[in-house]
Amino acid sequence: MEKLSDINSLTKKLKKINYLKVEKNKNLAEFASFKVGGPADLFLTPEKITAVKELMPLITNSTIPYFILGKGSNLIISDKGYRGIIIYTGSLNHYQFEGNQITAESGLELKEIADLAYENSLSGFEFAAGIPGSLGGALYMNAGAYGREMKDVIIKAQFIDQKGKLIELSKAELKLEYRTSILQKEDPDWTAVNVTIKLKKSKKSLIKAKMDELHNKRWSKQPMELPSAGSIFKRPPGHYTGPLIEEAKMKGFQIGGAQVSTKHAGFIVNKDHATAEDIVKLIEKVKKEVYKISGVQLEVEPRFLGEF
Ligand SMILES: Cc1cc2nc3c(=O)[nH]c(=O)nc-3n(C[C@H](O)[C@H](O)[C@H](O)COP(=O)(O)OP(=O)(O)OC[C@H]3O[C@@H](n4cnc5c(N)ncnc54)[C@H](O)[C@@H]3O)c2cc1C
Repeated sequence: MEKLSDINSLTKKLKKINYLKVEKNKNLAEFASFKVGGPADLFLTPEKITAVKELMPLITNSTIPYFILGKGSNLIISDKGYRGIIIYTGSLNHYQFEGNQITAESGLELKEIADLAYENSLSGFEFAAGIPGSLGGALYMNAGAYGREMKDVIIKAQFIDQKGKLIELSKAELKLEYRTSILQKEDPDWTAVNVTIKLKKSKKSLIKAKMDELHNKRWSKQPMELPSAGSIFKRPPGHYTGPLIEEAKMKGFQIGGAQVSTKHAGFIVNKDHATAEDIVKLIEKVKKEVYKISGVQLEVEPRFLGEF
């Protein structure tokens, strides 16, 4: 009860902030690429960075937990939802060019940035065109594909800390490594608001050809037609996840509506109205079977949100 009244008084204060949309009991499944997840108590959509600056001190002074949501393409959200506040970056999507550099707000989708780069004859971001995340989520994860990663293009990023202060970090300070960054390693609970990437001039025809090549590769090998969170496990050193799972005879294995993809065993897909519980049970089963035959301990790549 105490928490609810807390949320009510906090909501009143949040509603006074300009350029901030405040919603209650918002269903999260539509914001997750897996298409699973229950409601969040409070769902905030800042439309300008000033709104993030104002809201952060308010919510960090309350006892209510919060979570920053990008495109939800690397998340497994509990069927019970999230008892706290979601800060959704989807409306932070302004950008500007400066020579070969693009500075974009963290909610901008990687696909949009890849298209902008192409239109401006800038090469180096083709690898990210098929990753269905936001720029902030890609920074958090140091997302990568086909031998390239965000680390290759990011030069700096700006954050809002819990007091509402703007902080800028250089590339080295961002500590970008395989599928991780300072945001994961040190968990400062900052919201990334701007990221600057540096690309290089090239011919549009070459950029287009690279994007098409990677698009075709992705669609022929990965189950893009079904909801998922991408690779469900991190690549264990010295191994590939897909073959390990196949060896463990788990390819195509199904629990409830969740299935180990028949197209690529490294993906779990929401085949038929899966619940988060189905997905978690399937992850545990795959981990167990893979460990039994290979001794390899698989580590889940997506983040879990809410109670499991
Ligand atoms: C079909 C499919 C294919 C995929 N292929 C790839 C691939 O090839 N390579 C790859 O690396 N990934 C891949 N992914 C996974 C995913 O797209 C990436 O990890 C992506 O970077 C996640 O971004 P997001 O905006 O969706 O983050 P979310 O899922 O919304 O969040 C992920 C984490 O980032 C944090 N976060 C998000 N935005 C911010 C912010 N502004 N400030 C601070 N923290 C933030 C969240 O709090 C959360 O902890 C794939 C996913 C799918 C569904």
